[in-house]
Amino acid sequence: MIFARSRALLLVFLRPRAPLLTALNNGMATRFDFLVIGGGSGGLAGARRAAELGASVAVIESHKLGGTCVNVGCVPKKVMWNTAVHAEYVHDHEDYGFHGSNVKFNWRLIKEKRDAYVKRLNEIYQNNLNKAKIETIRGHAIFTSDPEPTVEVSGVKYTAPHILIATGGYPAIPSEKQVPGTKPPPTSFILMFLCFLVLSLCRRTVIVGAGYIAVEMAGILSALGSKTSLILRQEKVLRSFDSLISTNCTQELEKAGIDLWKNSQVKLVRKGDKGLEVTIMTRKADGQETTSTIQDVDCLLWAIGREPKTKEMNLEVLGLKLDDKGHIVVDEYQNTSRNGIYAVGDVCGKALLTPVAIAAGRKLAHRLFEGKKDSKLDYSNIPTVVFSHPPIGTIGLTEGTKTLRPTRHRLHLYHAITARKTQCVMKLVCAGKEEKVVGLHMQGLGCDEMLQGFAVAIKMGATKADFDNTVAIHPTSSEELVTMR
Ligand SMILES: Cc1cc2nc3c(=O)[nH]c(=O)nc-3n(C[C@H](O)[C@H](O)[C@H](O)COP(=O)(O)OP(=O)(O)OC[C@H]3O[C@@H](n4cnc5c(N)ncnc54)[C@H](O)[C@@H]3O)c2cc1C
Repeated sequence: MIFARSRALLLVFLRPRAPLLTALNNGMATRFDFLVIGGGSGGLAGARRAAELGASVAVIESHKLGGTCVNVGCVPKKVMWNTAVHAEYVHDHEDYGFHGSNVKFNWRLIKEKRDAYVKRLNEIYQNNLNKAKIETIRGHAIFTSDPEPTVEVSGVKYTAPHILIATGGYPAIPSEKQVPGTKPPPTSFILMFLCFLVLSLCRRTVIVGAGYIAVEMAGILSALGSKTSLILRQEKVLRSFDSLISTNCTQELEKAGIDLWKNSQVKLVRKGDKGLEVTIMTRKADGQETTSTIQDVDCLLWAIGREPKTKEMNLEVLGLKLDDKGHIVVDEYQNTSRNGIYAVGDVCGKALLTPVAIAAGRKLAHRLFEGKKDSKLDYSNIPTVVFSHPPIGTIGLTEGTKTLRPTRHRLHLYHAITARKTQCVMKLVCAGKEEKVVGLHMQGLGCDEMLQGFAVAIKMGATKADFDNTVAIHPTSSEELVTMR
């Protein structure tokens, strides 16, 4: 640690911290060592690490610092998930001997506290940039056709030998042709991605999608009292997860009172007197199709995936290679197809998670400004949590890919004395004669906090025998993972 710090200081001494203002105003570009487009998770992490290593850095941000995670993703979502967990525990109070509570929920209060916290984070991010002497440029970055890669923001040009694109993504919404009525959104009703940003709790919510964001939002809104329907194209949610998780999570959603429309698709959205009318087509087991309409919907939430923010940046002038969905194609070192241009985070379309964007941004900074030629993110064994009810923790390979170990299904001890029940399911996937643990999948109370430590063991190559040789902690759910037979 001391070594790393003194090395950074040495570099600071050797290289000028302030922009090397080749500031050739008259039409020429202001020059930095590192120009970062996007002040979200990946961009900020890369920028700050580069500045620590002595580079002159600028971050261009068109909206709020912190990006998706801080403003409309992980952070506000987790606050609302915690709120929803409170709502669930209220149901269990009597089972634990607490009587006579007339608990009322005040949506506006939690919304205001949450928004104030997010605002504080925005300010902290700005202060951190200022402290690191990173220039913050406000506005939308567009590449120019100058011979050297150059970016223009509000008529001013900037350039650098190293430019990082970390522009993230945005929620996909079907076109008017695919689902008539979705565009333009009916203004008097909510047709938006994050309905917990609104001023009051939606009474009637329809969520379209089967991925983790759809699952999380359905769980939160339903637990807080919104009548929630989830529209699934197929039978189950989280189909890319291990089958144990996909099946159990679908059951937990149903048990929680969420109305699942399986094998269904939204066909039409209309504005009615009291809300939206959402028409849904369902395919029955015999192949017949039926059509039904959900009335008086005050929140229709599309959670059908995310698209990369690669449009309206004039990327064509760089000739960057994009995949068929518009993601920037990068190699394992985050290099794009153009020399000196890099990309990290959601815009690359791989493992769309905040810690992934952060780690990739930092690794890149070490490669570019500390001469660590091999500095790159290892994308294998990335642990992930879904903040469902109860939460899911998952890492590594799923069943079917490797030899399978028996699974565990248990009722969490917490539920031994409650009327409301959730399952705790766990699975280890082991490979080869030495039974290396190559996958771990679980859903149950506490699984969100349980995963990180096990992820370290799996990343280090732990075997089933290593798990078995670890003395259990009792009484916990995690002890199941070291006592599985
Ligand atoms: C609802 C939701 C919940 C989530 N929950 C979790 C979670 O629990 N855990 C987790 O790890 N991940 C979660 N994620 C994913 C996580 O938020 C993203 O993976 C992460 O934010 C990606 O970081 P990024 O730097 O690639 O992009 P972003 O954080 O999206 O940042 C991109 C930034 O670039 C700016 N920008 C774009 N174009 C331009 C331009 N031309 N000029 C200037 N600025 C521009 C944008 O305004 C934005 O601020 C969630 C996402 C959503 C939507």
